[in-house]
Amino acid sequence: MSLLTDLHELLLPRLCPVCGKLLVKGEDVVCAFCALSMPRYRILHIDDNTLMRTLWNKADIQRAFTFLSYNHNSPYHNLIINIKFHGQSDLAVKLGQWAAIEAAKHNFWDKADALVPVPLTRWRRWQRGYNQAEMLARGMAEITKLPVLNLLKRTQNRTPQSRLSGETRLKNADNIYYAVIPETWRGKTLVLIDDVMTTGATLGNCAQALLEADKNAEICIFPLTYAG
Ligand SMILES: [Zn+2]
Repeated sequence: MSLLTDLHELLLPRLCPVCGKLLVKGEDVVCAFCALSMPRYRILHIDDNTLMRTLWNKADIQRAFTFLSYNHNSPYHNLIINIKFHGQSDLAVKLGQWAAIEAAKHNFWDKADALVPVPLTRWRRWQRGYNQAEMLARGMAEITKLPVLNLLKRTQNRTPQSRLSGETRLKNADNIYYAVIPETWRGKTLVLIDDVMTTGATLGNCAQALLEADKNAEICIFPLTYAG
């Protein structure tokens, strides 16, 4: 097995997605140096923090957690680029696992019943071959043993959020999500998963959609990165 692993490393060298250095044995997601310098976002209180306050006028959020600070000028932005545009769904799964372990240190998962990824448009999902938020959720599920439920749907194609300014984003994102929640999943604590939170428009609208489908649901949010 180890010989096979060694052979695999020799034939298909793995590179650190942040700095591009060759990963050596024992280095998994990123190289040891990049792992040490990860731009972690410091969450002091999972039930009262900036992420939740950003959504206060959108939806009632019970808990919020995030793993990394998002900055598109940082080399760590490559993590997001790779999971979104370079087909690295396995990297998304590994980041999901890592983020879930960090959240567990804050007892974030104590009340959670299921993981709900933010959906892509059908076209984008087809183009990419996977939904990166769902891959993050699958990684989190491996750690937490929680189910991943695709409860949210998108109604139609609109201009991608990244091309819009803050105010336009809030308007654009209105009403494009809806949720269908089966009876067995009503009154549960659902954790919304996404790759990046900027204005919070997407997560806010997804939370609203879930609460419209089930007013007794409790909503938590867990974007992998936060640009706050
Ligand atoms: Zn590195």
